[in-house]
Amino acid sequence: MEKNETKTDIMSLTEAELTDFIKDLGQPAFRAKQLYLWMQAGAPLEEMSNLPKKFRELLNERAEYKLPKIERRFVSQKDGTVKYLFALNDGECVESVLMKYSYGNTLCVSSQAGCRMGCKFCASTLSGRVRNLTPSEILGQITAAERDSGERVHGIVMMGIGEPLDNYDNVIKFLHLVGEDGHGIGMRHISLSTCGLVPQIRHLAEEGLPVTLSVSLHAHCDDRRKKIMPIANKYPIEELLSACRYYFEKTGRRVSFEYTLISGENDSLDDARALAALLKREMKYPCHVNLIMLNEVSETGLKTVDKTQAKLFEAEMIRLGQNATIRRRLGGDIDASCGQLRLSRNREIETKA
Ligand code: SAH
Repeated sequence: MEKNETKTDIMSLTEAELTDFIKDLGQPAFRAKQLYLWMQAGAPLEEMSNLPKKFRELLNERAEYKLPKIERRFVSQKDGTVKYLFALNDGECVESVLMKYSYGNTLCVSSQAGCRMGCKFCASTLSGRVRNLTPSEILGQITAAERDSGERVHGIVMMGIGEPLDNYDNVIKFLHLVGEDGHGIGMRHISLSTCGLVPQIRHLAEEGLPVTLSVSLHAHCDDRRKKIMPIANKYPIEELLSACRYYFEKTGRRVSFEYTLISGENDSLDDARALAALLKREMKYPCHVNLIMLNEVSETGLKTVDKTQAKLFEAEMIRLGQNATIRRRLGGDIDASCGQLRLSRNREIETKA
């Protein structure tokens, strides 16, 4: 729970915690339920029409309730994907993407302002990590996107800006909040993507929150992985895959691996064979490989692969008995893989200053 001097960050509270807070304010408990419902709808305090004015004034004094502000919004003409740049309370910006699938809407959310993991191909990490998001700031992306689009979010992927397991406690609290009655998004509809923080993967396995774990692998051996992901210097692939096995054993959830195809770096058919062999040898349990075609970020100089090469890579994995699919790219026309919007907006501010 974040306290801003005497103010309590009420959207980071569970319904039970909110009820205690409301009672401490000397208000009847049913007000907590009303407030909770309004917050889930992403409504500002002034819209909470069934709450007495006096109560709202009291909340203004004692509670912190700041909704993300839509700074920019892009809608794909191709498939209706909506990309948001949200400004938080202190002006920091993060991105969320609303993707519409036949089985429901998925929102990709950010967990940190910036990132300190330093992956070579990623725009989110280019200017480091500014700060962690609070549980309410992660949740706020969902309520704000739902309110703006008029659509319900059925699933969440934690694949936006930041490394979720580098903001462990706030992310766990967020998962508890989002799984609660009002949002009721089941853990099975939530994917958490990590660059591979081994101790945190093991902790997560023990939380009793069976989210789908996606692990960014991007290479089949440590030497290659170290070239593009600094975290590989800390945790070798062997330890990482051992933590993934543990995750499967504890949760029964099949682990997914993300593998971004980068031209000349990791996209040959020999790489596909080595990856399939690695997973067969070390993972043992069924797992899935998501092949992602690199979204080029000009600063990195890295190049993407063509569709034919991606297809050949995928086919080779399947031939060797390893499940793999090329991730569908939604919102191709509004582009900007995670972190690019935030980066360009920060640059604009720097140039103006
Ligand atoms: N920090 C988490 C979430 C990051 S974003 C993680 O590392 O997994 C989700 C996925 O997108 C990760 O697999 C990440 O490596 C990948 N990614 C980041 N930038 C990319 C780019 N420019 N092109 C393709 N994939 C990218």
